[in-house]
Amino acid sequence: MFNYKMRSSHTGNNKSARAESREPREEILKGGLDSACQQTNLLVFNKKEFKLKGSLSMYSNTTINKLRVKVFVDESTQRAKEKYQALVSATHRILSKFPNAFDGLPAIEIYFGSDIGAEACWSPDSSAGTPYLILGDRTLFRTNKKIAGQDDLWGMGALGPRGVADQMYDKKRLNKTSPIRWFSEIMGVYSASKYEEKVTAVIIHELGHIIHGCNPLSLTTFWKNKKIGARLVSSRIAEQVSSYTQGNNHNEFVAEVFTGIACGKLYSPEVIDLYEMYGGPRPSY
Ligand SMILES: [Zn+2]
Repeated sequence: MFNYKMRSSHTGNNKSARAESREPREEILKGGLDSACQQTNLLVFNKKEFKLKGSLSMYSNTTINKLRVKVFVDESTQRAKEKYQALVSATHRILSKFPNAFDGLPAIEIYFGSDIGAEACWSPDSSAGTPYLILGDRTLFRTNKKIAGQDDLWGMGALGPRGVADQMYDKKRLNKTSPIRWFSEIMGVYSASKYEEKVTAVIIHELGHIIHGCNPLSLTTFWKNKKIGARLVSSRIAEQVSSYTQGNNHNEFVAEVFTGIACGKLYSPEVIDLYEMYGGPRPSY
């Protein structure tokens, strides 16, 4: 059973409300009813809510490429296998460029849901907090195609600013006349290969936040970057990385550059210097 406080208004029986958490935490799973009459659970981090549906079960409790994980899945999640596969690829890519990236990290609790975004969260939301990873379909499987004529790197997408993960998705897109595309469409793997690339890159981005925020050497920088009034990423730098970094805080910049490096991109000395200045882990090329 979960070490969360639970409250269920579903049955009117408050037994589960008394399920004691083994350790006190800020986040709470609240029971309720959604329109489909399912039990709905809210995972709350620093007032941010992630809606999980139905009961949660343990999907995996293991070490993947040196990263200790406890993966939980809710009843609505259909694509757990794809996510887990991408998690394995993400850890593999990270280690290929950052061999010590997972050293000293606690076991990370990861939540797979369907109707939620993807985010690295801390509980409590401070340098003393424990990191958690939310991996929802809403971010992982959302495509944000570049608006025609916009720049590959810093162009905007139909749904707004695009990140390195969207650039990785683009790399897997093939021209409609490409025989490889025809073949992979016939085999039914064309769409899957684009998503695999995007989901892997989103997970690298989120793990990048966790690595950045947990490294004793960059811990202070990370929490300073999150503060209101912290310096934001300039256009000159953003246009070398992604439109998502433009005007965002430098933790987003670090996570984006981290993702790019893990996926084989090269950046200018100016970008790398700034990345290291804001606490980005140093790669071994
Ligand atoms: Zn981010």
